[in-house]
Amino acid sequence: MFADLHLHTAFSDGTYSPEELAGHGARHGFSCLALTDHDTVEGCARMGAACRKEGIEFLPATELTAEFKGTELHIIGYCIDIEHPKMLSEMEHFQSVRQNRIKEMVERLNRMNVPLREEAVMAIANCRSPGRPHIARALIQINVCKNLDEAFERFLKKGRPAWVPKFKISANEAIALIHAAGGLAVMAHPGLVHHDSMIPDLVAAGLDGIECYHTRHPTTTVEHYLQIAEEHHLLVTGGSDCHGMNKGQPLIGSIKLPYQHVEQLKERLPANNPFKGPFAKMPQP
Ligand SMILES: [Zn+2]
Ligand SMILES: [Zn+2]
Repeated sequence: MFADLHLHTAFSDGTYSPEELAGHGARHGFSCLALTDHDTVEGCARMGAACRKEGIEFLPATELTAEFKGTELHIIGYCIDIEHPKMLSEMEHFQSVRQNRIKEMVERLNRMNVPLREEAVMAIANCRSPGRPHIARALIQINVCKNLDEAFERFLKKGRPAWVPKFKISANEAIALIHAAGGLAVMAHPGLVHHDSMIPDLVAAGLDGIECYHTRHPTTTVEHYLQIAEEHHLLVTGGSDCHGMNKGQPLIGSIKLPYQHVEQLKERLPANNPFKGPFAKMPQP
């Protein structure tokens, strides 16, 4: 039995619908999937229903962008209450920040005589959590760029002319918010953050786990973080970070997390969390 605990749909910057994603999960033989769209839980109800149809256990989650002393990191909240009022109002705020950022980036492109319209980006995004991949797709649509890599290299990467810094909450705030919503806070892809020195501080702030297995973690990186997890008594998680067809081939299936890690995660949940214990309840659609 194995799981993929890091997946995105078109409710953020992935390309699959929840139903398509659950279908791919079933074809790969997964027993458990978690949906971790950026700054939103909008897709979770549908994903839960789609997984139930496929006989797959589902864990609702979200991936929050945070910062620690100037370094950006992503923190995933697992098994959060997707109707938690504070979580929802914070997310609404993150989403409006994302929408304003798209507007600013389009304005920068326009000043460089790139005839991109904000409406075109928002039509492609078609969600409340738009991001740079949506701008990239819009640039391909109007034949300014040939592919996503070119769009990021020329315009959208940090430091490139259309890049606008992203607002981030602090890592401590993200962890506290996830705990307030009844979930567990896990540091995503630490191997892409390159700042292990922050981990003890995050642990002190209540971090529950660390994503050791990730598509972009080579074996040595996985082993390194498994050791850190053991040192700090952190949960071990993993996932493909599949964004559908956005980044070439779909990544789902590239990480098959042994199911024991899901069991350990569910054991660590607070007593009143409905996902606690061996038999998780699926959220109602
Ligand atoms: Zn991430
Ligand atoms: Zn992700």
